Amino acid sequence: MKKLVTLAKDPLIKVSSRITSFLEPEYIYLPIDEEIRQNIDYKKVKKGDLLYSWQGKKQYSPVSGKIVGFLQNSQGLFLKIQNDYREEDSYNGVKEFTTMSIRTNFQSQIKNFPDFDWSKFKNQKTLILNGIEDEPYAATRTFLNKLKSQEILEMLDLLRETFQMNEVLLYLKENDRESIEAFSKYLGTYPKISIQILPDYYPIGHEVILKSYLHLPEDSVLLRPEEVYELYLNTIRDRKRDTILLTITGNAIENPQVFEVKIGTSLKEILKEHIHFKTAEYNFYINGLMHRETADVKEVILTPEIRVLYFMNPLHYKTKPCVHCGKCNEICPLKCNPYLSVNKKQKEASSKCIHCGLCTFICPSYIDIEKFL
Ligand code: SF4
Ligand code: SF4
Repeated sequence: MKKLVTLAKDPLIKVSSRITSFLEPEYIYLPIDEEIRQNIDYKKVKKGDLLYSWQGKKQYSPVSGKIVGFLQNSQGLFLKIQNDYREEDSYNGVKEFTTMSIRTNFQSQIKNFPDFDWSKFKNQKTLILNGIEDEPYAATRTFLNKLKSQEILEMLDLLRETFQMNEVLLYLKENDRESIEAFSKYLGTYPKISIQILPDYYPIGHEVILKSYLHLPEDSVLLRPEEVYELYLNTIRDRKRDTILLTITGNAIENPQVFEVKIGTSLKEILKEHIHFKTAEYNFYINGLMHRETADVKEVILTPEIRVLYFMNPLHYKTKPCVHCGKCNEICPLKCNPYLSVNKKQKEASSKCIHCGLCTFICPSYIDIEKFL
């Protein structure tokens, strides 16, 4: 593997240090397909009700309210639920799943959670938390680490005990002081958990890169904080996740922020109330400046897959022809030869590509190289 890089940061883009709650949207939109649409009842729902399975995932209602119809836009087909703001939920108390009984009897309880692949923990000696926030200017994972550090540690220790692993290692970046401090506060309670600090390289948080950088065996299990927290909610708390954290940032807005929002909220509702634009025009990117994935801002529905949204001054990104500088090849950590993909349209040259976006990011001609990969 090639040497990883430290990304130069634009001092004009601020990283938010506060969180804003946006938990009362008028409508919630959940992705569906035509087959599900045919079988949907227009009925009242409670928060946490199982509505249907979509692309292998169970979809629960994040609010209480009424199913009132559908939305079709460039992002897909969505079920529309009108929020009644009562937050009535289908949760009936923790019953026998109290924290204490879960902790002492977790091995026998896991059969109650068949959706999770427990087998991957067997025969592992070390459990690894990949808590790295790789995306520059994003604070989504840092906020989760900060707000839910106790819950994340409790779940990790429970997994270690249950599957008889020797230790848990928390990998964090050296510049993520807030996550380091948040976890450090509770480590005295967990002697088998320790923090490992990594340099601020990109894309060190990508699972393939991290395993290679740390020389970890191929079958090592790396968990993300959001996965661990969801597992905590599902098992120890017997609840379903109904909110997500999201960073909205970029040099075209005045007030970058991290938001806690209901899953299925329409982005335009948040922008209207909370974001002040510096310019009338901007470029919009989903989940990373590196990837330049974009969409119609007015049609974006916030799902757990969306972690960061960028609004950037469009003057920075005018595409020009390739100047054959070779920087894309030089920077690729997996030696994929993106130059060949751009200039000879040879897609096979990029079979190892992990879509880290570095080649696109470094290109002086602002070519969206990922489009060719
Ligand atoms: S996106 Fe793919 S080709 Fe480009 S630098 Fe990353 S791994 Fe290499
Ligand atoms: S970095 Fe951009 S301009 Fe340079 S060789 Fe690659 S595609 Fe061409």
